[in-house]
Amino acid sequence: MAQLIDGRALARALDAKTAAAVAEMAAAGLPRPGLAVVLLGDDPASQIYVRRKIAACREVGIRSFEHRLPAATTQDALLTLIARLNADPEVHGILCQVPLPPHIDQRMILGAIDPAKDVDGFHPVNVGRLSTGTGGIVPCTPLGVMMLIDTVAGDLTGMNAVVIGKSNIVGKPIAMLLLEREATVTVTHIHTANLPAITREADIIVAAAGAPDLVRGSWVKPGAIIIDVGISRIRGEDGRERLVGDVAFAEMDHAGAVSPVPGGVGPMTIACLLSNTVKAARIIADPQPAGSDTEDEDEWQDVPGRSLFADS
Ligand code: NAD
Repeated sequence: MAQLIDGRALARALDAKTAAAVAEMAAAGLPRPGLAVVLLGDDPASQIYVRRKIAACREVGIRSFEHRLPAATTQDALLTLIARLNADPEVHGILCQVPLPPHIDQRMILGAIDPAKDVDGFHPVNVGRLSTGTGGIVPCTPLGVMMLIDTVAGDLTGMNAVVIGKSNIVGKPIAMLLLEREATVTVTHIHTANLPAITREADIIVAAAGAPDLVRGSWVKPGAIIIDVGISRIRGEDGRERLVGDVAFAEMDHAGAVSPVPGGVGPMTIACLLSNTVKAARIIADPQPAGSDTEDEDEWQDVPGRSLFADS
């Protein structure tokens, strides 16, 4: 029987650590971390995500500033808001819920966010730092994936890791983080030929395709670690909608460990958003943390999954 990787439990543990860090900052007389959440339009899924993120902020003591704007908001108006949030000392993290309406140039908006406040880790500066292994803010879902892997694996050196999906916000950053940990990484996508033959060689599979039940039991070698990032809504025979991942969960008995959907990566994404906000607030308050002589020794430069769970 494969080990179940419990994302909800790990998210609770990370939230407790985040709440403790917020309390520590308050005790040290530092400002309370604040997250600005910008939502354009009334996409139902985005509304749910934003509501959850704001509720989660409250749980750990992070202030949240909600900016709900009509779908017709112009790009200039949005850029003006971002500039205001960049300059606001009470705001340490800025999240612009994607997808943005089609008349907005998403790349321009994400690029306008101050990289120091870019808690989603989507700004080109943070993307560049991630791909050169020089720290920065790591996107929340990939960070959560690494933490889940860390609960069941130690040293990843030389392990074969296969990432299914190559998006800028999920697949590629996960591949970068796995490479940083010295895994041998294969990134696959919709045009990859004979995907099952590739996954069968994998010690770690991260499925981020958004294709329900794509990864079958026969695709997985015994003992492999399976992280399911995919989220799709499907209608069951009873007519009710439910969330499913990319992995045929019922066929994974022979895997070493598997993360479920729901209850795997999803809760970790929000927990990592909160911890990224506190991280940003700490760096803004004290750009060179005490005890670090050089930037390379900065505790936040470490591999994220490990540093956030380190005792020190
Ligand atoms: P995307 O659509 O931008 O990218 C999907 C990638 O998967 C593409 O590279 C595509 O080539 C590949 N792909 C699609 N179908 C495939 C197939 N049949 N075989 C092989 N490769 C295939 O999506 P995304 O934003 O990267 O998100 C991926 C999935 O992860 C979605 O289901 C999304 O809802 C989910 N997601 C979950 C969280 C979370 O918090 N759990 C966060 C972000 C995204």
